Formats: sequence, C-alpha cells, structure tokens
Amino acid sequence: MSPPVFRFAPSPNGYLHLGHALSALLNADLARKAGGRLLLRIEDIDRTRCKPEYEQAIYDDLAWLGIAWEKPVRRQSEHFDAYRDALAKLQALDLVYASFESRGEIAELVTARGDGWPRDPDGAPIYPGGRDAIGETERRTRINAGEPYALRLDMAAAIARAGHPMWSETGRGPDGETGEIAARPQDWGDIILARKDVPTSYHLSVVVDDALQGVTHIVRGQDLFWSTSVHRLLQSLLGFPVPVYRHHRLVLDAAGRKLSKSTQATALRALRGEGATPADIRTMVGLPEP
Ligand code: GLU
Repeated sequence: MSPPVFRFAPSPNGYLHLGHALSALLNADLARKAGGRLLLRIEDIDRTRCKPEYEQAIYDDLAWLGIAWEKPVRRQSEHFDAYRDALAKLQALDLVYASFESRGEIAELVTARGDGWPRDPDGAPIYPGGRDAIGETERRTRINAGEPYALRLDMAAAIARAGHPMWSETGRGPDGETGEIAARPQDWGDIILARKDVPTSYHLSVVVDDALQGVTHIVRGQDLFWSTSVHRLLQSLLGFPVPVYRHHRLVLDAAGRKLSKSTQATALRALRGEGATPADIRTMVGLPEP
C-alpha cells in the first residue's frame, strides 16, 4: 500500500501565525507517525495579495519549526491550466454559468432581499442572483462584448447530479461534529469557481490539487470544516478520490478571537525575534513533545 499523503497549504498573503504552526506541526506529526509523506503547497492564486517575501517567510518559519517537506513545492499560480481543465469538465456537465455583478451590485441585491436573506457558513450572504436571472442570449452578448464575469456553480443542478456526499471526519467541526458527516453544499449557494480577476477559486484549486497530488489526509483548521461540503461535492462531480478529513481547533487570541495574519503579535517570526524556541511554540499551541 502506498504511504498516506498529508499536506500543509498556506497562502503567502501575510506571515504565518500560531494557528498555522498548529496546522503545520500537526500535519508533520501525523505524517511521521503514519510513515507518510508531507507536502507543502503554496496557495497563491490571488496575485495581488500574495507576495514573494511572504512565501520565503513560510519556508523560513517551517524550517525553523523543524518541519521537512517534499520538494518541489506546488505553487498554485503555476497550475492555472489544471484548474481550467476541471472547470471545462464542470462546464461540459452544464453546471457552470457566468455572472456579471460587481460586489456593490450584489450588496444592493442582498439589501433589497431584506434582513432574513441567508448567509453562508462563513457569514457572507448567499449569492442573490441565479442562473435564470438573465437569459443565455444576453449572457453570450455581454461576454462577447468583453464584460468581465465570474463563473459560478449552479448549486441546485450540481446537487441534483451528485447528491449530498459524505465525508469521514476524524477531528471535529465547530459544534463537535465528528464521524460520518453529510455534506451541506446547499448552504453555500452558487459559489464562484473562477473569479473575475483570477481564472479559478479557492474551492476549485484546492480540490484539483489535492486530487492531482494524491493527498489522502487533509488536516486543517476548523474554520474550513463546512467548506468541505463544497469540496466533497466537487470531488464527486469531477470523479476524484475522497481524502479523510481532520479539522483541528483554532488557536485564539487573548480576547477569544481567531488569529489573523494582520495581527503581528502572534506571527512566528515576531515570536522568534523575541527569543521563543520551536519547543515554546509547541507548548503555546498545546501540542505535546513530538
Ligand atoms: N490556503 C488555505 C488557508 O491558508 C488553506 C487551504 C486548506 O487547507 O484547504 O487558509
């Protein structure tokens, strides 16, 4: 049997903090215990927010923590072709449509729908438009006229095709969910598969890469627990294998808030500068000695 494959997949849009340290160390510990492989993937599809200095800092911080990863590292920005291929498969299934609204227009539509308009698990309003909001002829005309558009998944049609897939959760969701979990992709509405400014999206590229890299175990923060609903749906539609998931608790700040890349106090490089050791970081994130 081939060894299990784990991955740590940060975005180089800021410095890694204690939450990333927990994720990276947990992946490394579990890979080592299972005799598995550990991959590092740089999730840099957003070319405006991602910076080479942050990517270099990821390598420096992980090496300092004593984590070894396989090379070459996969950089998502070098694989837009792979995401385009996956998108083409979904288009061939007639599950994708172009939408043109700006953020401002979407916000106005949401306001017009009133207070009870549903929000996705991240707290953002569900896309208030829909495939039928405009006709195919108008859509074609606007695309041909060069109007920028995002490509969205027709969620109802996707669910009609793939159903509500399950996943095996060996960690816990935000409300303690564990074991066999039924995906709830309907909670996300018509998600974006390719942004106006980037020919892919987080959901699409993460699913494609995990499949292409043969990832068998996904260990990541609980904030991504319900994103797994979308990932499972896309895996089913694209015929990809299904990894095992383990979502871990989040590291919170003194006020009980999720850490953010903009809070420098918990950045690993800041802690290192103040004299913290890698062993101190393990203690700070509540991990036992390796
Ligand atoms: N790139 C994502 C992040 O930095 C993580 C993706 C994942 O683990 O699925 O939050």
